[in-house]
Amino acid sequence: MEFQSINPANGKVIAQYKGLNPAEVKEKISLSEKAFQQWKWTSFTSRATVLKKAAQLLLERKEQYAALITDEMGKLPYEAVAEIEKSALVCNYYADHAEEILQDEVIASRFSRSIVNYSPLGAILEIMPWNFPFWQVFRFSAPALMAGNVLLLKHAPNVFGAAVAIEELLIEAGLPEHVFQNLIIDTDQVEEVLAAPIVQGIALTGSERAGAAVASLAGKHIKKSILELGGSDPFIVLQDADIDIAATAAVQSRMGNAGQACTSAKRFIVAKEILEPFTDAIMDKISNMATQANGKQVAYMARPDLADNLQRQMLSSIEMGAQLLHGGERSGNYFPPTVLTNVSPGMPVFEEETFGPLLCIIEAEDEQDAVRLANSSRYGLGASIWTKDETKGFQLASMVEAGTISVNHIVKSDPRLPFGGTKKSGYGRELSAYGIKEFVNIKTMVVG
Ligand code: NDP
Repeated sequence: MEFQSINPANGKVIAQYKGLNPAEVKEKISLSEKAFQQWKWTSFTSRATVLKKAAQLLLERKEQYAALITDEMGKLPYEAVAEIEKSALVCNYYADHAEEILQDEVIASRFSRSIVNYSPLGAILEIMPWNFPFWQVFRFSAPALMAGNVLLLKHAPNVFGAAVAIEELLIEAGLPEHVFQNLIIDTDQVEEVLAAPIVQGIALTGSERAGAAVASLAGKHIKKSILELGGSDPFIVLQDADIDIAATAAVQSRMGNAGQACTSAKRFIVAKEILEPFTDAIMDKISNMATQANGKQVAYMARPDLADNLQRQMLSSIEMGAQLLHGGERSGNYFPPTVLTNVSPGMPVFEEETFGPLLCIIEAEDEQDAVRLANSSRYGLGASIWTKDETKGFQLASMVEAGTISVNHIVKSDPRLPFGGTKKSGYGRELSAYGIKEFVNIKTMVVG
């Protein structure tokens, strides 16, 4: 099987990759098993040395890696640089903290001595998407490697160049060969990998459809899985919010990475008293968005089918009564910043994940109605609440069904805090002490 990576800005083929045949996949799995027998006994200090070096290389070459990201999936250069910097951050975080997080815990019990120990599991298969081709991989790999696991990566085919670059970088940073292996495979080869006894878990970031498929396979083969499946994050603007601050943040959250982020705000739920000034402020910010390095206001979308889907969601919502206030005229893989108002439950832009630069505004009667609308979603990844009353913001936050809720800040992950969703946004947590413990054997050891 051949895979192509295509530049979304001009449709040119960047590179072609030959897929692995079944014998080659088997060989990679066997190499993974051998690598695990060594890697699991290495010290935290030696693992940390590798990750520190990886962070250093990422930062030294950030322009080079950023250019690769921009070519493969269309992100703006400054967005790509920020992604590389964040990837270095997560390497450094786990290099500095994994040992402390995973140290044995002594617990008083009926036994004379009892300890909880965290040991590595084996090989973990990570299936990653194209929207943050470096960050998603490092977010998962840094803790998993520090925990002593070995990794097999199946990346999205349009960013196989990033996958190759990451494997090379880790080896250059001192990671022993085969501890991290990139698999150029198709989705129908995933089961073969997951079924191998050395593979003890799978982590997927992607769509609900992919999550359901992978979770079924994981169930069939009794392997631990975690799923990070995106969302339809509500951005709740209460009557007392600072409208200018909220509108600036709204545009930043929705338009960054051309809206192709799981944590970007997607449903803007606004108190009826401030609906008009907030909408005006949004229009003002969008009209004044600067022209970027690609000559446009936002990045290109990564693939034509993704732009097709956004267009379908927009057009059928307009047919159902939504009003197009701005944008909407797609040209190839470029979707301009777009604003829809009069959006209500039942419309595709309300019910589905909109993975593009489309901002939809929904009117709320009052605070309770805003929370009701926020929770009227199959998803539950992130949410934000905008108000001058932080105490009230926190009270409402406790009523919102999501993995992360920010008051007066856009939803952003931080290596020190757990990240993940509820409902159809998936299960399990990444980052922080919680993330690193997802793929370890939590072993009880006692003395009578
Ligand atoms: P996918 O979920 O199809 O792709 C994400 C990753 O999952 C890719 O590596 C993909 O590989 C893999 N994958 C897909 N199906 C399977 C399967 N059955 N078994 C194993 N692996 C699988 O997302 P798309 O790229 O098609 O994007 C579609 C929508 O998904 C977006 O519009 C967005 O709504 C959502 N999404 C959410 C993301 C997030 O950050 N949470 C990231 C990306 C997408 P392959 O490409 O080879 O099929």
